[in-house]
Amino acid sequence: MTVQEGLKKLDALQRKMAAFDHAAGMIYFDGVTTAPKGTGANRGETLAILSEEAYKLSAGEETGALLDFLHENEAELTPEQKRMVEILRKDFVETRAIPMEEYVAYERLTNEAEDVWHRAKIENDYAAFAPYIDRIVAAQISMARHVEPDTDPYDYRLGRFEEGLTRAACDAFFDELRGSLAPLIRRVQAAPQLDDACLHGHFPLDKQRALSDWLMDTLGLDRAHCGIAETEHPFTTSFSRYDVRITTHYHEENFASSMYSVIHEGGHALYDANTDEAYAYTCLGDGVSMAIHESQSRFMENIVGRSRAFVSLAAPKLRALFPQLEGVDDEALYRAVNRSEPSLIRTEADELTYCMHVMIRYELEKKLFDGLLTARDLPAAWNALYKEYLGVDVPSDREGVLQDSHWSSGLFGYFPSYALGSAYGAQMLAKMRETVDIDACVARGDLSPVTDWLRERVWRFGSLMKPGVLFEQAVGAPFDAKYYVDYLTEKYGALYGL
Ligand SMILES: [Zn+2]
Repeated sequence: MTVQEGLKKLDALQRKMAAFDHAAGMIYFDGVTTAPKGTGANRGETLAILSEEAYKLSAGEETGALLDFLHENEAELTPEQKRMVEILRKDFVETRAIPMEEYVAYERLTNEAEDVWHRAKIENDYAAFAPYIDRIVAAQISMARHVEPDTDPYDYRLGRFEEGLTRAACDAFFDELRGSLAPLIRRVQAAPQLDDACLHGHFPLDKQRALSDWLMDTLGLDRAHCGIAETEHPFTTSFSRYDVRITTHYHEENFASSMYSVIHEGGHALYDANTDEAYAYTCLGDGVSMAIHESQSRFMENIVGRSRAFVSLAAPKLRALFPQLEGVDDEALYRAVNRSEPSLIRTEADELTYCMHVMIRYELEKKLFDGLLTARDLPAAWNALYKEYLGVDVPSDREGVLQDSHWSSGLFGYFPSYALGSAYGAQMLAKMRETVDIDACVARGDLSPVTDWLRERVWRFGSLMKPGVLFEQAVGAPFDAKYYVDYLTEKYGALYGL
């Protein structure tokens, strides 16, 4: 085989992988949006067959031989081709390192755990779910040792979501955040509180749907390639850069919940839809990591969406859709959507207290992986940290340790991405401000200078570079949590008159 022939095969392989992902993703998406209730078993059957075929594609002998061949002839590859081989080989090695029966048992375990968690949350029955936490952690430690015997298992988990991330880096980051934000949160709480009564009332769903359309257009999403649907929990999925879907959840009594979900998911969608066209149907065509992805969604949601300029831009539209806002001025709306209050639920947390929720989960995960904590003592440890970090009492496990689905699906090591992404976004803001008058362009309803900046420095690269490299190149400096702390201190200091 010549290198040219090998590259042709690589292209065909990736197109096939993309097609399997498309099919499986579409079936999943249908399941959580419009499929009738009784159709799950059929989907399960199909997905099992598709995933087996996809597994053979990514971890089969033929694929291994092709990737080895191209790796040996790396000198003849372009940087893009080299990175494709690197990503696919990593995947191949990881999958092959785990014994088949262990892998299958783990898949079964998490499938079961998701189901049990669902019921446990509804019934507030932590005891039913607890054994799964211990079993999933044990399985993940074992798998981590197969793949990277010399790496700390929790570091391995972190690296799966953010290539190169370690607990040492996370510890330093979170220490700095905690040290600065905990006193700020206390001062905000001691100050006169902001009024968000105008966000509550009755907001008809058809009007909220019209608002979603306006928001997607304003963000610059191409509606021919980006759809919106309604689900229990909002999310974004992309089948390729040409077909991106976001979802939201409408609450009739509060329009801001869906409004900011749409902007958040819209940020993810912009990233996915704006990777370089040359990377379509290859492993470079996706966003590079969870933290970089969250940096884009939280940038749009908070830094842009909760800015004075954006709220003023949206205000006339909001008043036209919801007449009860007639007498509410722009400043009152701005203050309402930025109200901060320590609370129980991460997904409903405000911009200032959000990272505390993440830190709590991070501290607990480390202890679970280090064997310093077992599932039995997890709720007590959870509740104690909520009291310590946020000053709130947790009334039930449903509103406590059972609230997130992540652990039931095995996403240990994932949570830090949310906080890291928020901090990445703040540093990007500082850099962007050097050349873009963000407030001025947002105020006149033209976000393109902002999105052009992000496309040029982040989106178009897809997975070409490792996340840390991409980030440093985008902002021209190493990551520094100071930008995030400064951003929050300035914003909330002004809002609360500190
Ligand atoms: Zn997100």
